[in-house]
Amino acid sequence: MHCSRCGLCCEETEMLLTEADVQLLEQVGYVRKDFVRYDSKNFAQLRNSEGHCVFYDPNKHSCKVYKLRPLGCRLYPVIYGEGEGVITDDICAMRRTVSKTEIERKGKRLIRLLDAIDCEAENRHGST
Ligand code: SF4
Repeated sequence: MHCSRCGLCCEETEMLLTEADVQLLEQVGYVRKDFVRYDSKNFAQLRNSEGHCVFYDPNKHSCKVYKLRPLGCRLYPVIYGEGEGVITDDICAMRRTVSKTEIERKGKRLIRLLDAIDCEAENRHGST
C-alpha cells in the first residue's frame, strides 16, 4: 500500500500486542510499563501519550520504532471488524491502495495474530 503518513492510525491507539511484540521492544531498551497497558480483560495494548501512541513522533510524522513496530501495526489498515470479518479501516484514506491479494495475505496473518492475542489474554487471566 501507499502510506501518506497522516498519523491518524496512531492517534488514540488501541493496538493490541502479543508478548513477542513487547519483548522485541524490550530487547532494544524500552520498559514494558512505559508502552504497554493491560485492559480489564487482560489484553495488552499500546499506551497513548498526548493523544497518540507513545511511539508516534508528531513532529516527524513517523513511528519511532518503525522497524520493530508491532505486528498489528504492520498489518494495518487491514483490521478485523466485529460482525464484518477482515476489512480495511475506513479511517485510512489510503486504504484503496491495498490490493485484494494484500488484504487476503494480511487477513490470514491477522486471524492468527488475534488467536494468539486471545490466548495470551486468557493465560494472563488464569495466572492472576
Ligand atoms: S507502534 Fe508505531 S505504527 Fe504502531 S501505533 Fe505506535 S507509532 Fe503507530
